[in-house]
Amino acid sequence: MFYINVLLNTITRDMNIDISKIEATGFLDIDINPTIDLFADINKLKKEKNAIVLAHYYQEPDIQDVADYIGDSLGLAQKAANTDADIIVFAGVHFMAETAKILNPTKKVLLPDLKAGCSLADSAPANLFKAFKDKHPEHLVISYINCTADIKALSDIICTSSNAEAILNSLPKDQKIIFAPDKNLGGYLNKKTGRNMLLWNGACMVHEIFSLEKITKLKIRHPKAQLISHPECEEAVLNISDYVGSTTQLLKYAQTSDVNEFIVATETGILHQMQISTPNKTFIPAPPNNSCACNDCPHMKLNTLEKLYICMQYELPEITMNETLRIAAKKPIDRMLEISKAAGLVG
Ligand code: SF4
Repeated sequence: MFYINVLLNTITRDMNIDISKIEATGFLDIDINPTIDLFADINKLKKEKNAIVLAHYYQEPDIQDVADYIGDSLGLAQKAANTDADIIVFAGVHFMAETAKILNPTKKVLLPDLKAGCSLADSAPANLFKAFKDKHPEHLVISYINCTADIKALSDIICTSSNAEAILNSLPKDQKIIFAPDKNLGGYLNKKTGRNMLLWNGACMVHEIFSLEKITKLKIRHPKAQLISHPECEEAVLNISDYVGSTTQLLKYAQTSDVNEFIVATETGILHQMQISTPNKTFIPAPPNNSCACNDCPHMKLNTLEKLYICMQYELPEITMNETLRIAAKKPIDRMLEISKAAGLVG
């Protein structure tokens, strides 16, 4: 093990890493010895470099198991805002690592694969969104955290699915609002709060894929199971759900409910924590409507334990950001964190 680390350190020093290659592949494509204990070495690197690994619930189980903190977007943003680590390794998608960088300009923020994007964030290009916003100057802009730094910079308040209601409740009832980018979450919030927010027409490819027909059949086959869904799902799925909540709320509900069987309509990664915390309960992933057998987020799953190790070893790829953009994008995130704190919300 010692030899391998010495060797890798030597390679790092001597190796002329071609950053343009990382831009093309999204990660440092280096072969590592397949016999090394990635868990032990990642933990060692964490100590050596004073690094913290933050992982989203949708990451593969191995990454969740090696992480210092696992959470949803709100919890991860709160953790990123309060860490005293020198390096934040973000096992999630690009907008999440970007949020960590916005909150921690002096810290090094690493993402195992730069191409770990998000279909929801991609559904709101900044130039089109700005034109839309300019047409409604009297509206306040609330954006779901699943958006790019450019969209954040065009927003007044950021929210997550954990705190969206608390944020809306902190605003006057007659406040005109644009909600972006997720039309399903926005529609759900309109219904729940009685508001009439203008919705940007964006969606998450994973949460839109669930089959109402297959879920209905599954419910018939498992009559005691409750359907628990993330509000990014389509309205038809939410309408037949027994409980709707953010990823953290779904986890807490599964832990505290008397029910023993659940059909889970969100990304499958969360099932790992559900199963760990309540091993006696049964969790069935809600079936998708295409020929694919899974509903994994293809972006989240670009990160692997190997890529995590390599990125910690070489401290690449790193998230960098223009300072003017960072300052503009930070304001609405700060507002979200203040409102969440006042409401006693922890992700
Ligand atoms: S699950 Fe959906 S919203 Fe989350 S990262 Fe993947 S594409 Fe984006």
